[in-house]
Amino acid sequence: MTENTAVLANYDNVLERIKAASLKSGRDFEKINILAVTKYARSQDIATLLTHRNVFAVGESRVQDSLQKWNNAPLNAFKTKKFFIGQLQSNKTLKVLEKFDIICSLDNAKISARLNEQAEKLDKKANCLLQVKLTEKLTQGGADLDEAPALIKVIKEQNPNINLRGVMAIAPIAPPQELRRLFKKVKNFFDNNFEKSDYLSLGMSEDYEVAVEEGSNLPRIGGAIFKNNAGGNNDN
Ligand SMILES: *Cc1c(COP(=O)(O)O)cnc(C)c1O
Repeated sequence: MTENTAVLANYDNVLERIKAASLKSGRDFEKINILAVTKYARSQDIATLLTHRNVFAVGESRVQDSLQKWNNAPLNAFKTKKFFIGQLQSNKTLKVLEKFDIICSLDNAKISARLNEQAEKLDKKANCLLQVKLTEKLTQGGADLDEAPALIKVIKEQNPNINLRGVMAIAPIAPPQELRRLFKKVKNFFDNNFEKSDYLSLGMSEDYEVAVEEGSNLPRIGGAIFKNNAGGNNDN
């Protein structure tokens, strides 16, 4: 079977755009990593990408999908990390903890306590990003920014098996100026509560350049990499 090299061209294009955005805003390109979201991708395209490019991380929002799609992908070639980006349901926490390196969607104390307990039983640390909400209108999860510092305190004090490694947020569809305002708010929160070396995961296919300009070091990109031709839609 011939490989779909469009995926590689798309990935390189995304990298170039991230480089340009980081130059423009005076950020360190070397410190920005791509989380390649595979939820709409074909497994053969994922394999192609991971064979030929050093991809920092892949992300899926469902456990079952990740097992099917990543099964034959050469995740070990470049030590690509596995990130869980979906909503965290309490009946799935154990599976997620077992199968993924980092959970991006921790947003409440109850799930945190549960993960803490399960991590202890598995004799591992649960590496998590705190998901925060950028707007009330979104149905996605995420803690309110106002309440997030208190939540961090509770997690740190009560859940020794949780390693909080940064922040994730999903932006609404909005004009660039509004996006910038929202990303700045999260960046500010991140700077006040986390280390520089932690993850600030902002930006998706439609808004990753703005996100990088505003300080994201881990944009999560699906469509822009796995669409089948430049400018086209996903049709797989
Ligand atoms: C699907 C998804 C992405 C990637 O979205 P694209 O628009 O395809 O880049 C990023 N983050 C989360 C949480 C997602 O569910």
